[in-house]
Amino acid sequence: MNRKKIVAGNWKMNMTIEESGKLINQLKEISKNNVEIKIAPSFTNLHSAISLLSNSEIEVIAQNVHAENRGAYTGEISPEMLTSIGIKTVIIGHSERRKYFNETDMVLSKKVKAAIENSLNVIFCVGEELSDRENGNQFEIIKTQLNSTLMDLDIIEIKNIVIAYEPVWAIGTGITANTHQIQEMHEFIRELINKKFGHEISTKIRILYGGSVKPINAKEIFSLEDVDGGLIGGASLIFSDFFKIVNAANG
Ligand code: PEP
Repeated sequence: MNRKKIVAGNWKMNMTIEESGKLINQLKEISKNNVEIKIAPSFTNLHSAISLLSNSEIEVIAQNVHAENRGAYTGEISPEMLTSIGIKTVIIGHSERRKYFNETDMVLSKKVKAAIENSLNVIFCVGEELSDRENGNQFEIIKTQLNSTLMDLDIIEIKNIVIAYEPVWAIGTGITANTHQIQEMHEFIRELINKKFGHEISTKIRILYGGSVKPINAKEIFSLEDVDGGLIGGASLIFSDFFKIVNAANG
């Protein structure tokens, strides 16, 4: 199955408005190619990033969203606010949101539904802790995370979803899951989607890998059968690294 690869840079809580502008001007040099490129700057940089990239194929996406559109939720950003500035995609369920902001599967499920109701696409992250893997529980954990968030979507709604498998122990650590571990988990996830949503959806849904993807390992990871690109943290902040990772996805 020929699925178009995605390379998405998650900038996390990095980059002032000046730094963001500088990096975006460099990113504009990345010419048209066969990869969907996305960047997720902080909320304060979204609007300017969108206007700087208005003539580019690079998509600006958000790192998070609240489940309600309006109300007394000090400090939060709603789906409607994102769509009103032209955002079309949001990352939900990143392990840092789960860990530092106590976002449970129940909260994440509401966010996914709210995003879809507001016509946002979702990059939904799942991943096990190191202790889960050491205990051999990684498949159970991923299954539970998916069951409680995506599996009650309908056949139309699931089309808004890209899944990112990000083993927590590989994020920002410099340790990458090995190719066997990555392919095996991606295949497992695709099979879960197949069982629930059927063959066509399962062959079309894109599953990204995230966790210390660097120029040195990107090509090998992206060449795995069930890997459809990457969610890139640290390396997305360095233009030359991100550029090489995009090229690796280009084949
Ligand atoms: C991430 O935050 O989604 C991520 C994969 O980070 P890093 O590439 O730095 O491991």
